[in-house]
Amino acid sequence: MYDLIVIGGGPGGLRAAELASHAGMSVALIEKDRLGGTCLNRGCIPTKALYAHIVGGKGERDGLWSRVEATMDKLRQGSATALRMAKVKTYRGTAAVTQWEGEKKISVRKEDGSVEEIASSRLLVAAGARSVRPSFAGNDLPEVLTGDWAIVDPLLWDPERNGDVRTVAVLGAGVIALEMAMMLQNLGKNVILLKHSDQILRRLDGDVKKKVGQIMKKRGTDVREYVRLSEAVQEGGGLLLRGTAKDEPFEERCDRLLLASSMEPILDGFGLENGPVRVAKGCIAVDDAMMTSVEGVYAVGDCTGGAMLAHLAEYQALAAVSHMTGGSYRVDLDALPACVFIEPEVATVGLTEEEARARGEEIVSAKAHFGANGMALAMGEGDGFVKVVARAAGRTILGVHIMGPEAASLLGEATLAVAKHLTAEDVANTIHAHPTLCECFRDACRRVMEE
Ligand SMILES: Cc1cc2nc3c(=O)[nH]c(=O)nc-3n(C[C@H](O)[C@H](O)[C@H](O)COP(=O)(O)OP(=O)(O)OC[C@H]3O[C@@H](n4cnc5c(N)ncnc54)[C@H](O)[C@@H]3O)c2cc1C
Repeated sequence: MYDLIVIGGGPGGLRAAELASHAGMSVALIEKDRLGGTCLNRGCIPTKALYAHIVGGKGERDGLWSRVEATMDKLRQGSATALRMAKVKTYRGTAAVTQWEGEKKISVRKEDGSVEEIASSRLLVAAGARSVRPSFAGNDLPEVLTGDWAIVDPLLWDPERNGDVRTVAVLGAGVIALEMAMMLQNLGKNVILLKHSDQILRRLDGDVKKKVGQIMKKRGTDVREYVRLSEAVQEGGGLLLRGTAKDEPFEERCDRLLLASSMEPILDGFGLENGPVRVAKGCIAVDDAMMTSVEGVYAVGDCTGGAMLAHLAEYQALAAVSHMTGGSYRVDLDALPACVFIEPEVATVGLTEEEARARGEEIVSAKAHFGANGMALAMGEGDGFVKVVARAAGRTILGVHIMGPEAASLLGEATLAVAKHLTAEDVANTIHAHPTLCECFRDACRRVMEE
């Protein structure tokens, strides 16, 4: 009998298995597909491998697709090695829990059809999420792609094979929709962004959203608001879309439709349906130690809902294993970083101005612009800003919102500042090397002190 069985080999499951094993537990991990989950095989890694070349301009377009595949292969090998080194027993097959309470019993159905029964004293579920497929006639046509699989379709992305795709309609206005829309535009495709409302990047700071909207306008992105699709029909090798936009009849032609409006937790396929674990609002319900309603059963990552991010899944795994071993680590959602890999890059941590006000905080905020930053100008990328939101009393940093060159990489210092409740003065008085992009964060902190 194992001390812990992990279902799912994505970022959440992998991290949990490694940490638990390092803590001295005997651990088994069951993965039905490839190690790395959505993140490595069809999410973060392939999108960013493409982004770096298509938008970031780092590298040649020639051989682009083989480089994307090579990146994924290398990281998959790395995950397998890490599990081996941690002495985690890996099962390739589909897990189904047959007994949740007391001793946990799990059956593993392998590719050859054989079934193996294994047991443990603890169980951790990290089954991930899938794209929501809105209901309209023709939503399963081959030209209709979903946000969680589209990125590994070379007929859409490989410049050597995607010549038949000229126009792509992207349904959604969140991170995945915008990242894909911008990359497709940079590949020379016409993009029609179909939004359910007038919003984009709903959770981001108002100033950032405004600037993203301006940039999309400048790029000439065709944006339709309040779209409801009723059908997609195959026509001349592509699709004819019908529905309404702002309650008026809507008709549009495209070669591919990409469904990227939202993701939903995976709650089927592993015996949850008939089990005792509590599900709330379509997600596995957990407490702050990632414990479900059943003793000894934990859940982490996308299947628990909330912000669906690979790094959040990993830190939730840390919280779960910490709880199993008597530790006290808990995830601080007020210091959760997130990035949007568009042009210019967006990165954010902590409270937005709107969220801080809604919590009743008395705040001050200030911006510093990359247009006044030596390194940004030297790079020819002076567009964008760093905005700092701080508590008025004491100037404790509550949120940092960056739009500009290398925003995602700049977020590390900002995240530390928010997580450790540093003040604007702490950052402003810390020596920042010159000339660097992070001087822009320091300058925003100086401004916050002057407010
Ligand atoms: C296009 C795209 C881009 C993204 N970009 C980013 C990004 O830049 N940054 C970021 O932080 N996040 C990004 N994400 C989100 C990120 O991929 C997820 O948040 C992350 O993968 C969640 O990790 P997880 O461990 O919860 O689940 P997953 O990575 O989905 O892993 C779950 C695993 O469980 C396995 N599984 C499910 N059921 C069973 C079963 N019954 N038996 C055995 N195995 C099972 C699945 O096969 C899968 O491998 C992106 C997602 C997409 C779709």
